[in-house]
Amino acid sequence: MSKLLIRGGTIVTMTGPARAPLTTDLAVEDGLIKALFPVGDALPRWQPDETIDATGLLVLPGFSNTHSHAAMTILRGMADDFPLKEWLEAKIWPAETRLSREDVYWGALLGLAEMIRSGITSLADMYFYAEEVARAVEEAGVRALLARGLFSRAWEASLNEGLDLHQRWQGRGNGRISVALAPHAPYTCSPPHLKEVRQLAGQLGVPIHIHLAETRREVEESRKNHGLTPVEFLERLGLFEVPVLAAHCVHLSPSDVELIARRQVQVSHNPVSNAKLGSGIAPLPALLHSGARVALGTDGAASSNRLDMFGTMRQAGFLQKAANEDPTFPDAYQLLRLATQGGSQLFPGSGQITPGANADLILIDPDRPHLTPSWDVYSSLVYSTQPQDVRTVIIGGRTVMKDWELLTIDEAAVIREVRKRAAGLASHEVQAPLRDR
Ligand SMILES: [Zn+2]
Repeated sequence: MSKLLIRGGTIVTMTGPARAPLTTDLAVEDGLIKALFPVGDALPRWQPDETIDATGLLVLPGFSNTHSHAAMTILRGMADDFPLKEWLEAKIWPAETRLSREDVYWGALLGLAEMIRSGITSLADMYFYAEEVARAVEEAGVRALLARGLFSRAWEASLNEGLDLHQRWQGRGNGRISVALAPHAPYTCSPPHLKEVRQLAGQLGVPIHIHLAETRREVEESRKNHGLTPVEFLERLGLFEVPVLAAHCVHLSPSDVELIARRQVQVSHNPVSNAKLGSGIAPLPALLHSGARVALGTDGAASSNRLDMFGTMRQAGFLQKAANEDPTFPDAYQLLRLATQGGSQLFPGSGQITPGANADLILIDPDRPHLTPSWDVYSSLVYSTQPQDVRTVIIGGRTVMKDWELLTIDEAAVIREVRKRAAGLASHEVQAPLRDR
Protein backbone atom coordinates (compact mmCIF):
# COMPACT_ATOMS: atom_id res chain seq x y z
CA MET A 1 0.00 0.00 0.00
CA SER A 2 2.20 2.83 -1.19
CA LYS A 3 0.80 6.31 -0.69
CA LEU A 4 2.11 9.40 -2.43
CA LEU A 5 1.01 13.00 -1.85
CA ILE A 6 1.69 15.57 -4.59
CA ARG A 7 1.31 18.89 -2.81
CA GLY A 8 0.20 22.22 -4.26
CA GLY A 9 0.59 21.52 -7.99
CA THR A 10 -1.40 23.24 -10.72
CA ILE A 11 -3.41 20.34 -12.10
CA VAL A 12 -4.19 20.04 -15.82
CA THR A 13 -6.78 17.25 -15.66
CA MET A 14 -7.57 16.81 -19.41
CA THR A 15 -11.14 15.84 -18.47
CA GLY A 16 -13.97 17.49 -20.41
CA PRO A 17 -13.50 20.74 -22.35
CA ALA A 18 -10.48 23.04 -21.96
CA ARG A 19 -10.64 24.88 -18.67
CA ALA A 20 -8.29 26.78 -16.38
CA PRO A 21 -6.34 24.37 -14.16
CA LEU A 22 -6.84 24.32 -10.40
CA THR A 23 -4.18 24.27 -7.72
CA THR A 24 -4.90 21.30 -5.47
CA ASP A 25 -3.26 18.51 -3.54
CA LEU A 26 -3.32 15.09 -5.18
CA ALA A 27 -3.37 11.76 -3.36
CA VAL A 28 -2.04 8.61 -5.04
CA GLU A 29 -2.53 5.14 -3.59
CA ASP A 30 -1.57 1.75 -5.04
CA GLY A 31 -0.71 3.21 -8.42
CA LEU A 32 -4.04 5.03 -8.85
CA ILE A 33 -5.21 8.58 -8.27
CA LYS A 34 -7.22 8.51 -5.05
CA ALA A 35 -8.39 12.10 -4.65
CA LEU A 36 -7.85 15.77 -5.45
CA PHE A 37 -8.46 18.05 -2.49
CA PRO A 38 -7.79 21.64 -1.30
CA VAL A 39 -4.14 22.50 -0.69
CA GLY A 40 -3.08 21.87 2.89
CA ASP A 41 -6.20 19.90 3.85
CA ALA A 42 -5.76 16.35 5.08
CA LEU A 43 -7.62 13.27 3.91
CA PRO A 44 -9.23 11.53 6.90
CA ARG A 45 -7.19 8.53 8.11
CA TRP A 46 -4.72 8.84 5.22
CA GLN A 47 -0.99 9.34 5.75
CA PRO A 48 1.36 9.50 2.75
CA ASP A 49 4.58 7.47 2.68
CA GLU A 50 6.13 10.09 0.40
CA THR A 51 5.35 13.73 -0.40
CA ILE A 52 6.42 15.64 -3.53
CA ASP A 53 6.24 19.42 -3.30
CA ALA A 54 4.75 20.53 -6.63
CA THR A 55 4.26 24.18 -5.67
CA GLY A 56 4.64 26.29 -8.80
CA LEU A 57 4.72 23.21 -11.06
CA LEU A 58 2.20 22.05 -13.66
CA VAL A 59 0.92 18.49 -13.16
CA LEU A 60 -0.55 16.72 -16.16
CA PRO A 61 -1.24 13.17 -17.35
CA GLY A 62 1.75 11.45 -18.95
CA PHE A 63 1.85 11.13 -22.73
CA SER A 64 1.12 7.94 -24.70
CA ASN A 65 3.55 7.26 -27.54
CA THR A 66 1.35 4.96 -29.61
CA HIS A 67 3.89 3.91 -32.25
CA SER A 68 7.56 3.35 -31.52
CA HIS A 69 10.52 1.10 -32.10
CA ALA A 70 12.42 2.08 -28.95
CA ALA A 71 15.52 0.04 -29.75
CA MET A 72 16.07 1.97 -33.00
CA THR A 73 17.77 4.74 -31.02
CA ILE A 74 20.93 2.74 -31.74
CA LEU A 75 20.40 3.57 -35.46
CA ARG A 76 19.62 7.28 -34.83
CA GLY A 77 21.04 9.41 -37.63
CA MET A 78 22.45 6.38 -39.46
CA ALA A 79 20.42 6.94 -42.64
CA ASP A 80 18.82 10.37 -42.98
CA ASP A 81 17.23 11.98 -46.01
CA PHE A 82 16.07 8.86 -47.88
CA PRO A 83 12.54 7.92 -49.05
CA LEU A 84 10.86 5.11 -47.06
CA LYS A 85 11.36 2.25 -49.51
CA GLU A 86 15.07 2.92 -50.04
CA TRP A 87 15.54 3.80 -46.38
CA LEU A 88 14.05 0.43 -45.32
CA GLU A 89 15.45 -1.85 -48.02
CA ALA A 90 18.94 -0.39 -48.55
CA LYS A 91 19.69 1.00 -45.09
CA ILE A 92 17.57 -0.07 -42.13
CA TRP A 93 16.84 -3.74 -42.82
CA PRO A 94 20.51 -4.55 -43.64
CA ALA A 95 21.63 -2.69 -40.49
CA GLU A 96 19.03 -4.54 -38.42
CA THR A 97 20.40 -7.93 -39.50
CA ARG A 98 23.58 -6.96 -37.64
CA LEU A 99 21.84 -6.04 -34.37
CA SER A 100 22.35 -8.47 -31.50
CA ARG A 101 19.91 -9.16 -28.68
CA GLU A 102 22.06 -7.00 -26.40
CA ASP A 103 22.05 -4.15 -28.94
CA VAL A 104 18.25 -4.22 -28.84
CA TYR A 105 18.19 -4.24 -25.03
CA TRP A 106 20.55 -1.25 -24.70
CA GLY A 107 18.94 0.64 -27.57
CA ALA A 108 15.52 0.15 -25.96
CA LEU A 109 16.78 1.39 -22.58
CA LEU A 110 18.18 4.51 -24.25
CA GLY A 111 14.87 5.05 -26.04
CA LEU A 112 12.96 4.68 -22.77
CA ALA A 113 15.27 7.15 -21.01
CA GLU A 114 14.61 9.67 -23.78
CA MET A 115 10.86 9.02 -23.66
CA ILE A 116 10.64 9.45 -19.87
CA ARG A 117 12.50 12.75 -20.19
CA SER A 118 9.89 13.83 -22.77
CA GLY A 119 6.99 12.98 -20.43
CA ILE A 120 6.03 9.73 -22.17
CA THR A 121 4.65 7.26 -19.62
CA SER A 122 3.26 4.61 -21.99
CA LEU A 123 4.30 3.31 -25.38
CA ALA A 124 3.13 0.87 -28.05
CA ASP A 125 6.26 -0.73 -29.47
CA MET A 126 6.99 -3.19 -32.28
CA TYR A 127 10.39 -4.80 -32.87
CA PHE A 128 12.38 -8.03 -33.10
CA TYR A 129 14.08 -9.47 -29.99
CA ALA A 130 10.98 -7.97 -28.37
CA GLU A 131 11.65 -9.83 -25.11
CA GLU A 132 14.75 -7.63 -24.75
CA VAL A 133 12.49 -4.59 -25.16
CA ALA A 134 10.20 -6.12 -22.53
CA ARG A 135 13.16 -6.56 -20.17
CA ALA A 136 14.08 -2.87 -20.63
CA VAL A 137 10.45 -1.80 -20.13
CA GLU A 138 10.14 -3.80 -16.92
CA GLU A 139 13.33 -2.25 -15.53
CA ALA A 140 12.45 1.30 -16.61
CA GLY A 141 9.01 1.07 -15.01
CA VAL A 142 7.06 2.43 -17.98
CA ARG A 143 3.67 1.20 -19.23
CA ALA A 144 3.82 -0.59 -22.58
CA LEU A 145 1.93 -2.52 -25.24
CA LEU A 146 4.71 -4.60 -26.78
CA ALA A 147 4.88 -6.74 -29.90
CA ARG A 148 7.25 -8.71 -32.07
CA GLY A 149 7.10 -7.40 -35.66
CA LEU A 150 5.90 -10.22 -37.95
CA PHE A 151 7.04 -10.72 -41.56
CA SER A 152 5.99 -13.37 -44.10
CA ARG A 153 9.62 -13.80 -45.13
CA ALA A 154 10.29 -15.35 -41.68
CA TRP A 155 6.76 -16.25 -40.67
CA GLU A 156 7.13 -19.29 -38.44
CA ALA A 157 10.04 -17.86 -36.46
CA SER A 158 8.60 -14.37 -35.99
CA LEU A 159 5.11 -15.64 -35.11
CA ASN A 160 6.49 -18.11 -32.58
CA GLU A 161 8.47 -15.32 -30.94
CA GLY A 162 5.40 -13.09 -30.94
CA LEU A 163 3.27 -15.76 -29.24
CA ASP A 164 6.06 -16.56 -26.81
CA LEU A 165 6.26 -12.88 -25.88
CA HIS A 166 2.54 -12.92 -25.11
CA GLN A 167 2.79 -16.03 -23.00
CA ARG A 168 5.72 -14.78 -20.96
CA TRP A 169 5.07 -11.05 -20.64
CA GLN A 170 1.31 -10.37 -20.73
CA GLY A 171 0.38 -8.68 -17.44
CA ARG A 172 3.94 -8.53 -16.07
CA GLY A 173 5.28 -5.46 -14.25
CA ASN A 174 2.18 -5.21 -12.02
CA GLY A 175 0.00 -5.23 -15.12
CA ARG A 176 1.92 -2.41 -16.80
CA ILE A 177 2.98 -4.65 -19.70
CA SER A 178 0.58 -6.01 -22.29
CA VAL A 179 1.30 -7.69 -25.60
CA ALA A 180 -0.15 -7.24 -29.10
CA LEU A 181 0.37 -9.14 -32.35
CA ALA A 182 2.15 -6.99 -34.93
CA PRO A 183 2.12 -7.98 -38.60
CA HIS A 184 4.56 -5.37 -39.95
CA ALA A 185 2.41 -4.11 -42.85
CA PRO A 186 -0.10 -5.32 -45.47
CA TYR A 187 2.74 -5.40 -48.03
CA THR A 188 5.17 -7.51 -45.94
CA CYS A 189 2.60 -10.09 -44.74
CA SER A 190 0.62 -12.35 -47.07
CA PRO A 191 -3.21 -12.52 -46.92
CA PRO A 192 -3.21 -16.02 -45.31
CA HIS A 193 -0.74 -14.80 -42.70
CA LEU A 194 -2.82 -11.70 -41.96
CA LYS A 195 -5.91 -13.89 -41.55
CA GLU A 196 -4.00 -16.16 -39.20
CA VAL A 197 -3.04 -13.15 -37.07
CA ARG A 198 -6.66 -11.98 -36.94
CA GLN A 199 -7.75 -15.38 -35.71
CA LEU A 200 -4.99 -15.59 -33.09
CA ALA A 201 -5.67 -12.03 -31.89
CA GLY A 202 -9.34 -12.93 -31.45
CA GLN A 203 -8.48 -16.10 -29.51
CA LEU A 204 -5.95 -14.37 -27.25
CA GLY A 205 -8.02 -11.20 -26.85
CA VAL A 206 -5.13 -8.95 -27.87
CA PRO A 207 -4.99 -6.02 -30.31
CA ILE A 208 -3.18 -5.98 -33.66
CA HIS A 209 -0.49 -3.32 -34.24
CA ILE A 210 0.33 -2.68 -37.94
CA HIS A 211 1.82 -0.04 -40.25
CA LEU A 212 -0.93 1.08 -42.65
CA ALA A 213 -1.25 3.37 -45.69
CA GLU A 214 2.08 5.04 -44.95
CA THR A 215 3.07 6.05 -48.50
CA ARG A 216 1.37 6.81 -51.81
CA ARG A 217 3.35 3.95 -53.33
CA GLU A 218 1.87 1.46 -50.80
CA VAL A 219 -1.65 2.52 -51.84
CA GLU A 220 -0.85 2.32 -55.57
CA GLU A 221 0.63 -1.17 -55.22
CA SER A 222 -2.30 -2.36 -53.11
CA ARG A 223 -4.74 -1.09 -55.73
CA LYS A 224 -2.70 -2.84 -58.45
CA ASN A 225 -2.31 -6.15 -56.58
CA HIS A 226 -5.69 -6.39 -54.82
CA GLY A 227 -7.91 -3.77 -56.47
CA LEU A 228 -8.36 -2.28 -52.99
CA THR A 229 -6.79 0.42 -50.82
CA PRO A 230 -4.70 -0.99 -47.91
CA VAL A 231 -7.53 -0.08 -45.52
CA GLU A 232 -10.16 -1.83 -47.70
CA PHE A 233 -7.79 -4.79 -48.02
CA LEU A 234 -7.55 -5.24 -44.23
CA GLU A 235 -11.33 -4.86 -43.96
CA ARG A 236 -11.76 -7.58 -46.61
CA LEU A 237 -9.45 -9.89 -44.60
CA GLY A 238 -11.52 -9.24 -41.47
CA LEU A 239 -8.73 -7.61 -39.46
CA PHE A 240 -10.98 -4.86 -38.12
CA GLU A 241 -13.14 -7.46 -36.37
CA VAL A 242 -10.51 -7.28 -33.60
CA PRO A 243 -9.06 -4.05 -32.13
CA VAL A 244 -6.42 -2.63 -34.50
CA LEU A 245 -3.75 -0.01 -33.84
CA ALA A 246 -2.82 1.36 -37.26
CA ALA A 247 0.33 3.44 -37.51
CA HIS A 248 0.60 6.31 -40.02
CA CYS A 249 -2.66 6.24 -42.08
CA VAL A 250 -1.26 9.02 -44.29
CA HIS A 251 -2.88 8.22 -47.63
CA LEU A 252 -6.60 7.62 -47.05
CA SER A 253 -9.59 7.96 -49.36
CA PRO A 254 -12.75 9.53 -47.88
CA SER A 255 -14.26 6.02 -47.64
CA ASP A 256 -11.09 4.77 -45.87
CA VAL A 257 -11.59 7.52 -43.28
CA GLU A 258 -15.23 6.54 -42.84
CA LEU A 259 -14.28 2.86 -42.50
CA ILE A 260 -11.58 3.61 -39.92
CA ALA A 261 -14.06 5.64 -37.85
CA ARG A 262 -16.85 3.05 -38.14
CA ARG A 263 -14.54 0.13 -37.26
CA GLN A 264 -13.04 2.12 -34.36
CA VAL A 265 -9.51 1.56 -35.62
CA GLN A 266 -7.01 3.31 -33.33
CA VAL A 267 -4.92 5.55 -35.57
CA SER A 268 -1.38 6.43 -34.49
CA HIS A 269 -0.46 9.69 -36.22
CA ASN A 270 3.33 10.06 -36.67
CA PRO A 271 3.77 13.52 -38.21
CA VAL A 272 7.54 13.86 -37.70
CA SER A 273 8.44 10.51 -39.28
CA ASN A 274 5.93 11.04 -42.13
CA ALA A 275 7.35 14.49 -42.90
CA LYS A 276 11.02 13.50 -42.64
CA LEU A 277 10.62 10.44 -44.87
CA GLY A 278 8.63 12.55 -47.34
CA SER A 279 5.67 10.18 -46.94
CA GLY A 280 3.08 12.94 -46.75
CA ILE A 281 0.64 14.58 -44.34
CA ALA A 282 -2.12 12.48 -42.78
CA PRO A 283 -5.70 13.83 -43.13
CA LEU A 284 -5.99 14.67 -39.44
CA PRO A 285 -8.99 17.05 -39.80
CA ALA A 286 -10.99 14.44 -41.75
CA LEU A 287 -10.12 11.73 -39.23
CA LEU A 288 -11.05 13.86 -36.22
CA HIS A 289 -14.25 15.18 -37.82
CA SER A 290 -15.31 11.63 -38.67
CA GLY A 291 -14.97 10.65 -35.02
CA ALA A 292 -11.97 8.35 -35.56
CA ARG A 293 -9.75 7.52 -32.60
CA VAL A 294 -6.44 9.30 -33.11
CA ALA A 295 -3.33 9.35 -30.94
CA LEU A 296 0.26 10.45 -31.55
CA GLY A 297 3.44 8.46 -32.09
CA THR A 298 7.09 9.25 -32.55
CA ASP A 299 7.96 6.17 -34.66
CA GLY A 300 11.58 5.03 -34.24
CA ALA A 301 14.52 7.36 -33.74
CA ALA A 302 15.96 6.20 -37.07
CA SER A 303 13.14 8.04 -38.87
CA SER A 304 12.18 10.81 -36.44
CA ASN A 305 15.56 11.21 -34.70
CA ARG A 306 13.98 12.35 -31.42
CA LEU A 307 11.43 10.58 -29.22
CA ASP A 308 9.93 13.91 -28.23
CA MET A 309 6.20 14.22 -27.64
CA PHE A 310 6.31 18.03 -27.44
CA GLY A 311 7.93 18.23 -30.88
CA THR A 312 5.39 15.68 -32.14
CA MET A 313 2.43 17.75 -30.91
CA ARG A 314 3.81 20.88 -32.54
CA GLN A 315 4.56 19.11 -35.81
CA ALA A 316 1.04 17.59 -35.84
CA GLY A 317 -0.45 21.06 -35.42
CA PHE A 318 1.83 23.07 -37.69
CA LEU A 319 1.66 20.66 -40.65
CA GLN A 320 -2.15 20.89 -40.73
CA LYS A 321 -2.23 24.65 -40.24
CA ALA A 322 0.24 25.13 -43.10
CA ALA A 323 -1.21 22.51 -45.46
CA ASN A 324 -4.82 23.67 -45.01
CA GLU A 325 -3.99 27.38 -44.64
CA ASP A 326 -6.14 27.25 -41.50
CA PRO A 327 -4.51 28.33 -38.23
CA THR A 328 -7.58 27.41 -36.17
CA PHE A 329 -7.39 23.60 -36.47
CA PRO A 330 -6.15 21.73 -34.57
CA ASP A 331 -5.86 24.03 -31.55
CA ALA A 332 -3.50 23.56 -28.60
CA TYR A 333 -6.04 21.77 -26.42
CA GLN A 334 -6.94 19.32 -29.21
CA LEU A 335 -3.23 18.54 -29.69
CA LEU A 336 -2.71 17.97 -25.96
CA ARG A 337 -5.73 15.64 -25.94
CA LEU A 338 -4.21 13.58 -28.77
CA ALA A 339 -0.98 13.20 -26.77
CA THR A 340 -2.66 12.32 -23.47
CA GLN A 341 -6.12 10.77 -24.00
CA GLY A 342 -5.66 9.72 -27.63
CA GLY A 343 -4.20 6.38 -26.54
CA SER A 344 -6.52 5.63 -23.63
CA GLN A 345 -8.10 2.66 -25.46
CA LEU A 346 -4.65 1.04 -25.53
CA PHE A 347 -3.79 2.02 -21.96
CA PRO A 348 -7.09 1.98 -20.04
CA GLY A 349 -7.16 4.40 -17.12
CA SER A 350 -4.32 6.57 -18.45
CA GLY A 351 -4.50 10.03 -20.02
CA GLN A 352 -6.46 12.03 -17.45
CA ILE A 353 -6.25 13.12 -13.85
CA THR A 354 -9.37 11.98 -12.07
CA PRO A 355 -10.01 9.68 -9.10
CA GLY A 356 -9.53 6.04 -10.12
CA ALA A 357 -7.25 6.83 -13.08
CA ASN A 358 -3.70 5.48 -13.34
CA ALA A 359 -1.22 7.71 -11.51
CA ASP A 360 0.81 8.33 -14.69
CA LEU A 361 1.81 11.94 -14.07
CA ILE A 362 4.37 14.44 -15.25
CA LEU A 363 5.45 17.58 -13.41
CA ILE A 364 6.58 20.49 -15.56
CA ASP A 365 8.67 23.39 -14.32
CA PRO A 366 7.36 26.59 -15.97
CA ASP A 367 10.05 28.78 -14.40
CA ARG A 368 11.80 29.25 -17.76
CA PRO A 369 12.35 32.18 -20.14
CA HIS A 370 10.57 30.41 -23.02
CA LEU A 371 7.54 29.68 -20.79
CA THR A 372 7.21 33.28 -19.62
CA PRO A 373 4.65 34.81 -19.59
CA SER A 374 1.87 32.25 -19.82
CA TRP A 375 -1.42 33.72 -21.02
CA ASP A 376 -2.87 30.27 -21.58
CA VAL A 377 -1.65 27.02 -20.04
CA TYR A 378 -2.46 24.93 -23.14
CA SER A 379 -0.58 27.32 -25.41
CA SER A 380 2.44 27.12 -23.09
CA LEU A 381 2.36 23.34 -22.90
CA VAL A 382 1.96 22.68 -26.62
CA TYR A 383 3.72 25.55 -28.37
CA SER A 384 6.54 26.44 -25.93
CA THR A 385 7.38 23.51 -23.64
CA GLN A 386 10.29 21.19 -24.43
CA PRO A 387 11.40 17.88 -22.87
CA GLN A 388 13.96 19.61 -20.63
CA ASP A 389 11.08 21.31 -18.79
CA VAL A 390 9.75 17.94 -17.55
CA ARG A 391 11.06 17.74 -14.01
CA THR A 392 9.47 14.69 -12.44
CA VAL A 393 7.70 11.63 -13.91
CA ILE A 394 5.48 9.17 -12.04
CA ILE A 395 4.17 5.95 -13.62
CA GLY A 396 1.63 3.79 -11.81
CA GLY A 397 2.37 5.75 -8.62
CA ARG A 398 6.11 5.07 -8.81
CA THR A 399 8.51 7.98 -9.32
CA VAL A 400 10.80 7.12 -12.26
CA MET A 401 12.34 10.60 -12.63
CA LYS A 402 12.71 13.05 -9.75
CA ASP A 403 14.05 16.58 -10.29
CA TRP A 404 15.47 15.56 -13.72
CA GLU A 405 17.26 12.49 -12.30
CA LEU A 406 16.24 9.13 -13.77
CA LEU A 407 15.71 6.69 -10.89
CA THR A 408 15.18 3.43 -12.79
CA ILE A 409 17.78 3.78 -15.56
CA ASP A 410 21.53 4.32 -15.17
CA GLU A 411 21.58 6.94 -17.90
CA ALA A 412 25.35 7.48 -18.06
CA ALA A 413 25.96 3.74 -18.40
CA VAL A 414 23.32 3.42 -21.12
CA ILE A 415 24.77 6.31 -23.14
CA ARG A 416 28.27 4.83 -22.84
CA GLU A 417 27.11 1.36 -23.86
CA VAL A 418 25.05 2.52 -26.86
CA ARG A 419 27.91 4.71 -28.13
CA LYS A 420 30.23 1.73 -27.99
CA ARG A 421 27.76 -0.59 -29.74
CA ALA A 422 26.89 2.00 -32.44
CA ALA A 423 30.60 2.43 -33.17
CA GLY A 424 30.86 -1.34 -33.61
CA LEU A 425 27.93 -1.30 -36.06
CA ALA A 426 29.35 1.72 -37.91
CA SER A 427 32.65 -0.08 -38.55
CA HIS A 428 30.67 -2.48 -40.81
CA GLU A 429 28.92 0.32 -42.64
CA VAL A 430 30.55 1.74 -45.77
CA GLN A 431 29.76 5.44 -45.36
CA ALA A 432 29.27 7.06 -48.74
CA PRO A 433 29.94 10.79 -48.72
CA LEU A 434 26.75 12.83 -49.15
CA ARG A 435 27.53 13.87 -52.73
CA ASP A 436 27.74 10.22 -53.87
CA ARG A 437 24.35 9.15 -52.52
ZN1 LIG B 1 7.05 2.22 -37.51
